[in-house]
Amino acid sequence: MSTEKGPNFLEEIIAEDVKNGKHGGRVLTRFPPEPNGYLHIGHSKSICVNFGLAAHFGGKTNLRFDDTNPEKEETEYVESIKTDIRWLGFTWANEFYASDYFPQLFAFAVKLIEQGLAYVDDSSPEEIASMKGTPTEPGKDSPFRARSVEENLDLFTRMKNGEFRDGEKVLRARIDMASPNMHFRDPILYRIKHTAHHRTGNHWCIYPMYDFAHGQSDAIEQITHSICTLEFEVHRPLYEWFIEKLGLYTSRQYEFARLNLNYTVMSKRKLLQLVQEKHVSGWDDPRMPTISGLRRRGYTPESVRNFAERVGVARRENIIDVGLLEFCVREDLNRRATRAMVVLDPLKLIIENLPEGHVEHLPTENNPEAEEKTTREIPFGRELWIERDDFMEVPEKKYFRLAPGKMVRLKSAYIVECTGFEKDASGHITAVLARYIPESKSGHDNSGLQVKGVIHWVHAPSAVPCEVRLYDRLFRVEDPSSEAGDFKDYINPDSLTVVKGAMAEPCLNAAKPGEHFQFMRKGYFVPDADSSAGHPVFNRTVTLKDGWGKQKEN
Ligand code: ATP
Ligand code: MG
Repeated sequence: MSTEKGPNFLEEIIAEDVKNGKHGGRVLTRFPPEPNGYLHIGHSKSICVNFGLAAHFGGKTNLRFDDTNPEKEETEYVESIKTDIRWLGFTWANEFYASDYFPQLFAFAVKLIEQGLAYVDDSSPEEIASMKGTPTEPGKDSPFRARSVEENLDLFTRMKNGEFRDGEKVLRARIDMASPNMHFRDPILYRIKHTAHHRTGNHWCIYPMYDFAHGQSDAIEQITHSICTLEFEVHRPLYEWFIEKLGLYTSRQYEFARLNLNYTVMSKRKLLQLVQEKHVSGWDDPRMPTISGLRRRGYTPESVRNFAERVGVARRENIIDVGLLEFCVREDLNRRATRAMVVLDPLKLIIENLPEGHVEHLPTENNPEAEEKTTREIPFGRELWIERDDFMEVPEKKYFRLAPGKMVRLKSAYIVECTGFEKDASGHITAVLARYIPESKSGHDNSGLQVKGVIHWVHAPSAVPCEVRLYDRLFRVEDPSSEAGDFKDYINPDSLTVVKGAMAEPCLNAAKPGEHFQFMRKGYFVPDADSSAGHPVFNRTVTLKDGWGKQKEN
């Protein structure tokens, strides 16, 4: 967790607590997702902070599903969350569910009622809202605020027993309708929902609110440092009020700034809309900022963790450039990706001074950046595929690739000189003709020739036709949520380009998801699960370069 930047403010607080023997020197954090969607890159920051801090101090982290909203929560989400945390490389000490604490939370509510600190309110949601006041004006007491303890106990029990309809009654804390902190103005503790829960089924028809579940769950688990994002800062006094009034273990809440990224949206509610309205193929669409989307896109756990580390932990809100995320994955893939040749827009190159059927196998380095250098062999012969834009009939200035009379090096192979080209009746170029220079073989070049351009190519008879999916940002503006109208109006119509007839070198036929490739001159790619035998599909993880690194790396 520590970086060259020095310890962050949370590390300082925890180090001090450990030194002073607070919590017996113990560190136990928790990651508390609500299983109402898939995790996104923002959550990965919280995961790295919670698990990272605990690991740094020899402590542990619980995974706790904050499942108190039955309509929105599903087992599918629980499973995806577990998969994603494991993929990121973290192991939780315990898997807990807020719903496991429903009986205890109910008992806590009864305890508050008995102390005169909670009451059943028959007001409608609209009436409650209208009596809430504003930050500058006090609220009004509900006409039901003075109910006796006995009446409240009876009504709350009947709420639990299912005697009332949804919205007919709520349980509220009796605190202070004039408090400057709006969260203290008699917050709702329980509401009635006749809805089945993904784990407790129809056992309960009253469900606790976030504020009444979260701190108490922390206390039950004896969490030492309850770390969350800044929007919960205003909830902290209430968190502490419940712990104090109920006499529970004193977990303490700390807040840090949430991760915001440009050119994307990160609320699960918005991501769910993109999925349900089919703007993307699913939660794991490679354009989604979800962890499963990033994984399918070819991001590595190391790159995501490294990104979280670079972003750091602070209390000041800011927006991170998505270029930093791309920079992190590029840096990681540069050292792990196998270099391979794939032609996206194929044009035939015929080497006239090689006989038909001639095949030789040329060694090529798998990855010049890897610590251990390895090579493989690639076939070379008379007919090759090259990129259509690596040939120009009439070359522009400073064009160092193929044009009549010009020479270029074929990567890992030979220098070739363009001797002509063929066109069809409509003027479309159908093939480029060339001769190769036998003395110019890569690694054994004694031709004495100097050529400026190097291009990639694929041996045509053994090429594997494949599909290549090129992704761009899902949104065309930096902050789609703050623009006028609906955020979906700002979806980038060109966020996906599907290239159907690409030609890959033979080794890519057997590529599996999770393997990483650099398609030379084209970017980093990963096989997609949509691949089938003889027809691989590749996702572009990221292009090879952008200006971001130069401008902002310091
Ligand atoms: P969203 O608003 O995206 O739907 P959420 O906060 O409702 O997310 P939870 O499942 O409640 O999602 O989040 C679990 C934990 O992850 C919380 O502690 C929350 O503070 C943290 N978290 C969520 N989004 C971010 C973010 N963008 N940056 C850092 N932490 C985040
Ligand atoms: Mg939440």
